[in-house]
Amino acid sequence: MENLMEKIVSLAKRRGFIYPGSEIYGGLGGTWDYGPAGVELKNNIKREWWRTFVQLRDDVVGIDAAILMNPKVWEASGHLESFTDPLVECKVCHERLRADHEDEIKEHEKRHQPRIDRIETGPKEKDFWTEPQKFNLMVEASLGVIEGKKQTVYLRGEITQGVHVNFKNVLDSTRIKIPFGIAQVGKAFRNEITPGNFTFRSREFEQFEIQYYIKPDEKEGKKWFEYWKNEVINWYLSLGIKKENLRFRDHTPDERAHYAKDACDLEYNSPFGGWKEFQGIHHRADWDLSRHSKFSSEKLTYTDPETKKEFTPWDIESSGGVDRATLFFLIDAYEEEKLEKDETRVVLRLHPKLAPYKVAVFPLLANKQELINAAKKIYDDLKIEFMTAWDDRGNIGKRYRAQDEVGTPYCVTIDFESLEDNAVTVRDRDSMKQERIAISELKNYLKNELQKTNTR
Ligand code: ATP
Repeated sequence: MENLMEKIVSLAKRRGFIYPGSEIYGGLGGTWDYGPAGVELKNNIKREWWRTFVQLRDDVVGIDAAILMNPKVWEASGHLESFTDPLVECKVCHERLRADHEDEIKEHEKRHQPRIDRIETGPKEKDFWTEPQKFNLMVEASLGVIEGKKQTVYLRGEITQGVHVNFKNVLDSTRIKIPFGIAQVGKAFRNEITPGNFTFRSREFEQFEIQYYIKPDEKEGKKWFEYWKNEVINWYLSLGIKKENLRFRDHTPDERAHYAKDACDLEYNSPFGGWKEFQGIHHRADWDLSRHSKFSSEKLTYTDPETKKEFTPWDIESSGGVDRATLFFLIDAYEEEKLEKDETRVVLRLHPKLAPYKVAVFPLLANKQELINAAKKIYDDLKIEFMTAWDDRGNIGKRYRAQDEVGTPYCVTIDFESLEDNAVTVRDRDSMKQERIAISELKNYLKNELQKTNTR
């Protein structure tokens, strides 16, 4: 769809999903703020993720580690050494791009071609770019109150390390046995060189991850790597992401991260240049635990309770971006539906579990107190159970359009008849069908409808 990204960015701002960070001060590159609808969507994604991967599983526990960590963590993890991207600089305009982003490089060269052609002795394509150089992506901060005695620390570049450094704590404080996972959701920070494509590449973003510890064995490694690939893709599918927009891509050995024994990306077919990384599944083997053990001198091993064999477990990581998930759920759910009389409606067909508001309540008219009172009573009752929106502006048609654009599955209208028959009109977002439901049945009706797993 043409200009789909422009439409998504504009809808996100207009309907309170996502705003540019610190906008009134001209913004801050690579930062975004979530509005009233956005925070609900993002929280729902995180809640569903936690429910599936922690609450419903006996083999995964959660933690929430600090963002600031002892800088030795980042030496041990290799981030201070290898968490760098090779950059090249354009000799014409001095813009810096990632050397491994071939599409952006080609696009940039195309943009400058007329200019290059005009410069007879100027840069030719082969020396158009500087040699690739490495830049560290870790964001620095300083801790302490006395000038000159401040300690340089880093805002974590990934949430992963908070899990590995707590491996022993979790083992000692729970009854969990290998194979087991530790899950975490939280913010990470990277000095991304080219933030962009809306929230896709930000400098402050949120991740959800599971580090799954297994026996150090090639066969086990393969088995759990495939297992987590399936779990991850099935989770997105269960929440309505279209199958044709997802695919796996194996990393080639030269693009694997410094720690990875095997790596694969779940990719999404985005409107900004096609397939893009959504989530990574990495076989990290014993890289992290061994390194932390070496740098901290703590023993980070596991003793099999049956065989009494001691070993350093291997780790299969699944690591996703909450902001990327939010963006891709938005894009995937966006639809322009042709109606009668050349009319079009924009509707976000978000899975009901993810929809920011489950139901909206409208009094038919805003200037009739008896309608407002009856509607308010229903609204107050529903909001105990569901995230509920209230709207009494404009006409009903406009209110439906507004709720369609935030993906609210049901709208409830209280009209004059309601005062007589104690029933309301419930309108379905996807089919636009309207049904008359008794007020006494309304809560149960909505609960049942919302529990249906897929609305498509
Ligand atoms: P990319 O190749 O896109 O830079 P990556 O391979 O560096 O990503 P990981 O380090 O594997 O990413 O991070 C795991 C997940 O965190 C990614 O799959 C993505 O969903 C999310 N993520 C990483 N960097 C960013 C970012 N700058 N902004 C938003 N989300 C991000």
